[in-house]
Amino acid sequence: MKFRFHGGRPSVNFTATVDERWRDGGFERLAAPAALGRWFTEAGLTGNDPRCSRADLRHARELREAVYRLMLARMGRCRPAPDDVATVNAWAAKPPPAVELCAEASGLCARPARVTAPALLALLARDAVDVIGGAAGPRLRECDNAECSLLFVDTSRAGTRRWCSMSACGARDKMTRYRSGGT
Ligand SMILES: [Zn+2]
Repeated sequence: MKFRFHGGRPSVNFTATVDERWRDGGFERLAAPAALGRWFTEAGLTGNDPRCSRADLRHARELREAVYRLMLARMGRCRPAPDDVATVNAWAAKPPPAVELCAEASGLCARPARVTAPALLALLARDAVDVIGGAAGPRLRECDNAECSLLFVDTSRAGTRRWCSMSACGARDKMTRYRSGGT
């Protein structure tokens, strides 16, 4: 199953691991601990699968849903729930992955060290704090395709981006308007 990375930030992409949220309950893409490990890797947060446990998966989903609801609150859709703020803050207070320098034949390079699932969740929570409370907050958007509803950070100069991705939802909208004879 392919994950979707159109959000522009790790914490926003993390909320996309529930797809079709417009449907009742949506579609859970993190169905098992191994899927969480694969998401961390494909998101570029670690080079090696941190081997997630069932508890890690449960924590990841709790954090993800708190982040999602707070992003909706940032977009003015609802009021921020104190429990969600507390969940994000608790994870943001934990240590993120350590980094280290490694000396290779080609020279010195930086790499994450001792990457664990809790450290990666801390990283995501910190990113969420920055997105929701920082400069990206006013640029949070939901895809205009009613049957998509992924979130993304609009980094376009004009701030008028409507789709999670031009190649998926944008192209689909173009095709619909073409078929209906509109412009
Ligand atoms: Zn979309």
